Amino acid sequence: AVEIRKVNKYYGPFHALKDVDLSIPPGKVTCLIGPSGSGKSTLLRCINFLEEYDSGEIRIDGKLMGYEAPGRKMAGRKLREMRRSIGMVFQQFNLWPHMTAKENVAEGLIRVRGLSKAEAEKRAAEALTKVGLGDKMGNHPSRLSGGQQQRVAIARAIAMEPRLMLFDEPTSALDPELVGEVLNVMKALANEGMTMVVVTHEMGFAAHVADQVAFMEKGELVAVDSPQAIFHAPKDQRIQNFLRTYH
Ligand code: ATP
Ligand code: MG
Repeated sequence: AVEIRKVNKYYGPFHALKDVDLSIPPGKVTCLIGPSGSGKSTLLRCINFLEEYDSGEIRIDGKLMGYEAPGRKMAGRKLREMRRSIGMVFQQFNLWPHMTAKENVAEGLIRVRGLSKAEAEKRAAEALTKVGLGDKMGNHPSRLSGGQQQRVAIARAIAMEPRLMLFDEPTSALDPELVGEVLNVMKALANEGMTMVVVTHEMGFAAHVADQVAFMEKGELVAVDSPQAIFHAPKDQRIQNFLRTYH
């Protein structure tokens, strides 16, 4: 589980996260929605400490993320260790162009996990099969569609056996006809009980797959509720206004 308590984040004078409180239950899907610039990516990146937060606490399975104590940053080695249990998938797939799909997935297993090449490739093949790319393992990214490339990126993350997966608009860079295949892979992962935090503009996905939906605006976490409550009976005017732009 992830516990976010009173987290504040500034970019210079700009207050990007304002006293954000959010509990991410294990084995559940939390979708993060809200207007552009509301702080969704910033919050997601604070969870694995790609961004430093200025005050408050983020705990992952009880352990404080990024700091030994308030104001005292964690040593690099310990931070890397904590990050190992967290997978992240971005809008841009960030695959190595000179490597095949299988090599892209195996690389981290060899370098970070210290697996032998043979072992890593076996695990890479399993992960790629799981995302429906068993027949594309030898392709380089340039020979894969956007949806397939994003599924390689997901396979690369899950091959590391994370306890938590963070997704930042994983389908935003895709042509509309390729969005479904990526969302289906994410849905399957959710059904297996993966703990997931998903920043998304796919309201259908949030409505059908999320266990809870968090709405952000201007750095503030306005509401956390069931998809039913957020999409069908939003209490806050700001949520109503936001959802209106999607109809
Ligand atoms: P989008 O839906 O467009 O991805 P978002 O909700 O993910 O938006 P963030 O990227 O978290 O928004 O940005 C929140 C605010 O912080 C924005 O106003 C943005 O301009 C600002 N911001 C983000 N990164 C930086 C940075 N490195 N330096 C300064 N300001 C930043
Ligand atoms: Mg963003």
